[in-house]
Amino acid sequence: MNFKKVILIILVILILIIAGIFLFSSGYTKIQNNNKIQVVVSNFASYDFLRAIIGDNENIELTFLLGPGKDVHSYDPTAGDLIAIQNADLFVYIGGKMENWSEKVLNSLDTTKTKIICIADYVDTMEEQEIDGVEYEHDHVDGAFDEHIWTSPINAILMVNSLRNAMIEIDSENAEKYEANAKNYIEKIEIVDMQIQKIVDNRVRNTLVFADKMPMQYFIDYYGLQVTAAFSGCSTEAEPSANTIAYLENKVKQEGIPVVLYVELNNGRVANTIAKEVGNGCEALQIQSLHNVSLDDFNNGETWVSLMTRNLDVLRKALQ
Ligand SMILES: [Zn+2]
Repeated sequence: MNFKKVILIILVILILIIAGIFLFSSGYTKIQNNNKIQVVVSNFASYDFLRAIIGDNENIELTFLLGPGKDVHSYDPTAGDLIAIQNADLFVYIGGKMENWSEKVLNSLDTTKTKIICIADYVDTMEEQEIDGVEYEHDHVDGAFDEHIWTSPINAILMVNSLRNAMIEIDSENAEKYEANAKNYIEKIEIVDMQIQKIVDNRVRNTLVFADKMPMQYFIDYYGLQVTAAFSGCSTEAEPSANTIAYLENKVKQEGIPVVLYVELNNGRVANTIAKEVGNGCEALQIQSLHNVSLDDFNNGETWVSLMTRNLDVLRKALQ
């Protein structure tokens, strides 16, 4: 071994040690220097509800694991996320196929000091429905629960109540504040619910058409609507087949449906193609399923309530 090689090896070892110390200490300082109560949440709706319940309480650090602008179905926790979950005082997730990492992660971490809430346990879940328009790989849907629980106002309210109770459990000193903040937010949910209900009451058609995935079955059922879609809620496919597009196009033409929908984080290309092909003033519009929030909307502080409110105009046009 020549002298240069020895120097190189020593250098590499030194760099590794320094990197190790840096990584360890940055994680360590974050945990040690931060005496705040750690609340960690996987998905947007629960994050938004917790943000409202926590309000201006500076003793709470709220972490939104998925982060804005990302597809919840392709999320996998990073090493930093695992540390955050491990050190959480409260960890909130949904689970199911959508967050299929959750079971594995919770089994592998020591979460004895963490209050863990699977928020889906606090609402009436339903099985995934067979959706008109969707080409299924198997003869039928597999009967798993539909994870998109947040899309109906009744579930949103149940979620707020459960998350408020969880916050009171981990920080009873601020119980009154949490009660008041939750009550305030529920009132806002009830207002947007009434506004949507009014549009639904005045509708001239029942069917919403999604040229996209359709993660809003709870919403559809709650308001007694019907739906035709290119994909089920949890599909990760990007492009519908020519058959599916033809089916949707035909449906829209035949029933004179004025709006073809696509969900947030989608560029609406397929919906626009169909609307253009159908003509007759048919338009493609984006509906907020709140599966996640775009980076812009997140930076603008948009909430479950403000995004649902944005849906009012879309629904008014779509149900005419
Ligand atoms: Zn989904």
